[in-house]
Amino acid sequence: MTKKGRKSETKLQQWLNHFSERVDYSRFQRGMSLYNDHHVHGFQVFPNHFECQIEGLQDTYEVRGYYRLENGIPLLNDYEVVCSCPDEKPICKHGVCATMYFILNELTAEQNDTEDRVLRERSAQIEEPLKKLQQKVASQTSSILELHSFRGSRNIQNKDYIETVHTRVVSVMDELKKRQ
Ligand SMILES: [Zn+2]
Repeated sequence: MTKKGRKSETKLQQWLNHFSERVDYSRFQRGMSLYNDHHVHGFQVFPNHFECQIEGLQDTYEVRGYYRLENGIPLLNDYEVVCSCPDEKPICKHGVCATMYFILNELTAEQNDTEDRVLRERSAQIEEPLKKLQQKVASQTSSILELHSFRGSRNIQNKDYIETVHTRVVSVMDELKKRQ
């Protein structure tokens, strides 16, 4: 990840959290595991869509995502991801995996400085703690006790939001630990 992309990193992770609310929870967890285990291949980004292959347990699937950017962030309502697997849900685990790759690996590297100051200040209050939580998941080495300390912070305005993300993150960590 480049330094240049760091400013908008938290916004993208926030986007990912909103996205996760639209996905069946077990699919979200499995998609995240696939992402963490590097199951994404041949990722290609085009102006309004991306393509890649996700290596599943049974087979390798073709995934395409369609998006429209606003200030470097995909509009959630215009975002669509389709997969060649037989899953009938609108977003399957491969779609989750590809989306995470797109957001965390591709968009962060291409971000420019279009964010305004208000968003940056909000970022310090709300999104920084989220970013820390996300990094804990990425490293998979943190203690859950440490995560809990974020909940007590008085600087966090939107406690319910943090709470939701925290719960999600902890259960994903548990899931990942079980698999190791
Ligand atoms: Zn799929």
